[in-house]
Amino acid sequence: PIYLDYNATTPVDKRVLEKILPYFTEHFGNAASRSHLYGWTAQDAVENARQQIADLIGAEAKEIVFTSGATEANNLAIKGLYELFSTSKNHIITVETEHKAILDVCKHLEKLGCETTYLKPDSAGLISLEQIENAIRPETFLISVMYANNEIGTIQPIREIGALAHKNDILFHTDATQVLGKVAIDVDADNIDLLSLSGHKLYAPKGIGALYIRKKSKASQLIAQIDGGRHERGYRSGTLNVTGIVGLGEACEIAKNELLAENQRLSILRDKLEQGILQNIADVQVNGNIENRLPNLTNISFGGVDGENLLMSFRDIAVSSGSACTSATVEPSYVLKAIGLDDNLAYATIRFSLGKFTTEEEIDFTIKYVKEVVESLR
Ligand code: PMP
Repeated sequence: PIYLDYNATTPVDKRVLEKILPYFTEHFGNAASRSHLYGWTAQDAVENARQQIADLIGAEAKEIVFTSGATEANNLAIKGLYELFSTSKNHIITVETEHKAILDVCKHLEKLGCETTYLKPDSAGLISLEQIENAIRPETFLISVMYANNEIGTIQPIREIGALAHKNDILFHTDATQVLGKVAIDVDADNIDLLSLSGHKLYAPKGIGALYIRKKSKASQLIAQIDGGRHERGYRSGTLNVTGIVGLGEACEIAKNELLAENQRLSILRDKLEQGILQNIADVQVNGNIENRLPNLTNISFGGVDGENLLMSFRDIAVSSGSACTSATVEPSYVLKAIGLDDNLAYATIRFSLGKFTTEEEIDFTIKYVKEVVESLR
């Protein structure tokens, strides 16, 4: 089938793979081995990758901490800060449409005494500064708002949210997993204290990610959640995943060089797909913030069809009905419900996400194919 699920995961870029391979075999050293060339070679590769990642987001290399992915980065950020602040402040502000790797962390902390405000977005998936301002309490230590939503692509006013957080002496975390390589990020200009990212959404391997932690902020005192040999300056113990790290670094460098051209190409293809569906199929709607969303994604609801049949009928294209991470359950997407879709329409919604290897021929085929399938189900 034609792969149109790049927001679930991406294939590894061949250039990334080539860069990684020697670190499985000849350069297999432990980056923590300080007494021989094997260790130094691995450590050099890790530090080079750390700089490549920092360069993509305008950070310093020493502000990057490697994790197993964005889920772990989110856990480290939120639990680490909760533990740091727990005797003084205990309130977090976040959003109903965050990834489960934020929401379930907050739920867990609530059992320990944390209080969370979940802001409700508008029908485009946006939250307002006013909503945040109204939710701020003297006990608020963290605002966590995702940069862009994984299901509907809506990009939040990150820079303004960060400024509001700082005005109130609150730390600002953003889950930018879906944004790296798609939108230019600058942690200074965007007022970000902590940022989560993941390799496998960016043409690097699965099982590697990072947390950016601002050096000159209270965030840098967060409490580690995995203890051991004090790797990563004590923030995250465990022998480093050198191959994953090298891959993530290379993927970030490629993204930095190719971001603008590639995203222009993708948004043209995405618009072609979206217009093709809107113009050729009756009773469809596009979800999310059309004015400001991820360039590679469109989220479309099809009226008058049974949702479960819809997804199962798309044999020739690989797409998803919202978040793959919650697809073990047959609940309608909580993101779509939060922006006001009813259960039926939420079930009958498809996320099409394009990527580096998507071609115009694939988009032409998909438009015709979706029309056929939807009309046969009606
Ligand atoms: N946050 C967002 C917004 C995501 O889309 C994902 C991946 N579905 C994650 C976090 C989890 O990332 P990882 O797979 O690296 O744990």
